[in-house]
Amino acid sequence: MPKKHVNGRAAQLPAQRREKICPVCGRPFAWRRRWAQQWDEVVYCSERCRRGRNRPSTSP
Ligand SMILES: [Zn+2]
Repeated sequence: MPKKHVNGRAAQLPAQRREKICPVCGRPFAWRRRWAQQWDEVVYCSERCRRGRNRPSTSP
């Protein structure tokens, strides 16, 4: 019988939360492996939002 010590779910998250809110679409997006080296620089959830940041997400 292995003894399992459960110390919460915070063990998987680093000091900073791996989640940001896209200023274009206003939706939260989660960390991705492709952003591992540039997570601090990531602002938009996707390339689409990054390019269309000047245009509102809602259709005119
Ligand atoms: Zn977005």
